[in-house]
Amino acid sequence: MVIYIMSNSETSLPANNFIRQIVREDLQAGRCQKVITRFPPEPNGYLHIGHAKSICLNFGLANEFNGVCHLRFDDTNPTKEEQEYIDAIKHDVEWLGFHWTGSMCHASDYFEQLHKWAVYLIKQGKAYVCDLSPEEARIYRGSLHEAGKNSPYRNRSIEENLDLFARMKNGEFKDGEKVLRAKIDMASPNMNLRDPILYRIRHAEHHQTGNQWCIYPSYDFTHGQSDAIEGITHSICTLEFEDHRPLYEWFLDNLPVPSKPHQYEFARLNLNYTITSKRKLKLLVDEKYVDGWDDPRMSTISGFRRRGFTAVAIRDFCERIGVGRADAIVDLGVLEFCIRENLDANAPRAMCVLKPLKVVITNYPEDKIEILELSRHPKNEQLGKRQLPFEREIYIDQNDYNENPPKGYKRLIPEGEVRLRGSYVIKAEKAIKDAQGNIVELHCSYDPKTLGKNPEGRKVKGVIHWVPAKQSIPCEVRLYDRLFKSANPEKTEEGGSFLDNINTQSLVVLKGCRAETSLAEASLEDRFQFEREGYFCLDSKDSKPEALVFNRTITLRDSWGQ
Ligand code: ATP
Ligand code: MG
Repeated sequence: MVIYIMSNSETSLPANNFIRQIVREDLQAGRCQKVITRFPPEPNGYLHIGHAKSICLNFGLANEFNGVCHLRFDDTNPTKEEQEYIDAIKHDVEWLGFHWTGSMCHASDYFEQLHKWAVYLIKQGKAYVCDLSPEEARIYRGSLHEAGKNSPYRNRSIEENLDLFARMKNGEFKDGEKVLRAKIDMASPNMNLRDPILYRIRHAEHHQTGNQWCIYPSYDFTHGQSDAIEGITHSICTLEFEDHRPLYEWFLDNLPVPSKPHQYEFARLNLNYTITSKRKLKLLVDEKYVDGWDDPRMSTISGFRRRGFTAVAIRDFCERIGVGRADAIVDLGVLEFCIRENLDANAPRAMCVLKPLKVVITNYPEDKIEILELSRHPKNEQLGKRQLPFEREIYIDQNDYNENPPKGYKRLIPEGEVRLRGSYVIKAEKAIKDAQGNIVELHCSYDPKTLGKNPEGRKVKGVIHWVPAKQSIPCEVRLYDRLFKSANPEKTEEGGSFLDNINTQSLVVLKGCRAETSLAEASLEDRFQFEREGYFCLDSKDSKPEALVFNRTITLRDSWGQ
């Protein structure tokens, strides 16, 4: 069953979630003295919005109950992992506002101990070296409807297993020639218990351990034991690992581990219009569909950050969607709602004209300049005021003048009037056109009695934004839309892939935009509402003091002055 969580501003905050409840009860009953959780990313890509849910849950529980949370890199796969990812993951966790306890951990810190425990299992007659090829092993494994068959190598003596495992470690065999397996039950209805692999041969350099090892422990053999070494009390993972729990417990029951953690599963975050798989996100990067992992259209935490999302909004989102055990698809609108709400309350207002059309106010004196004062925020006076010079020549947006207006158009039309935000009412007198009939300039008149006052004897409905022509700064503006054009990017015509669902209109670059000069002082942390256009921030990669580049974080929910 799929439940849609829709973008409803009334969504009440979940007062509780089942994992919180479990932790609370464990503490009350004295089953644990102090909560220790962990966030265990594999450093094979950048973190995405799904990881944010897990981060908020694990670090959030530790914060709430005065416990601690470890950041542990689950680095058992040397060939797909890189230091770049480790650095990016640390940065993202910190940016989200969380602190891990002690230095960070790596599963590779425990390779020595895990190797000892593998030898221990061999000595107990509970692990053996198997020579089946991957293909043969698959056939022996059986299926969901059919029991597996014992490997012909299952009954090797303990001595032979110890010898072969030592030779695996010493590099005597090639990749894939042999594996170490647990001896559990080839007929178990749970496939994970059918003699799972403990160690594989991989002649590959590891980013932490270099060339020390040529055998690497499997995820299943590593994860629970790492939890036990670190004294994790609540090991929280996504529902796909529910079937691994019996194996998780089998290892803890059969090894002399220092503690017995418990695994709990919750439903992963799925967002419509969004991909949350590192492998697929990596493909978008590698195949250059996007400008890197932090492309503002990416569902990565670094992408959202570059786009202008705040950590507060992402944490708020994770709290709102809650933690449950039912698979659900969350509407992207919920996340958009969270960032809008956050920015609406906090972002100073400014004006930027995206498609400038020069307006000459013919009855305004050529040498006159008036300094107008506009508040930075309509509700938050503490943000203060900004100054905007009013001159004879200004820019308005090309879309705000229309000679063939649709019904209900409240902006400027020939002979019509409109208010300039924070300024006067102007009236369109004459459009100057080029040889092709494009409007290149507009001549208007202004009513000097309308500064901060309604005009006498007539109503002017529309309000448009503007900037002075001379005293404004040029800039580039990038408008983003959803990266995928369908709600379920994975759903394609036969033979297609999620790449076929990419929205080719998801980035629109506008050059030659004009912004009010107060924006020249913007810093990377600043967010603005460009009136009528949405929320914006400087692009952290491409913006330079002499050539500003703004990213649109999100559109306004309702644009005024339609
Ligand atoms: P991906 O499928 O993107 O590769 P993963 O689960 O392999 O994700 P890990 O680095 O292993 O990525 O994940 C670290 C932690 O984040 C795990 O505990 C995992 O359960 C959790 N996690 C990953 N994706 C999601 C998601 N969509 N929603 C909630 N938690 C997630
Ligand atoms: Mg994983």
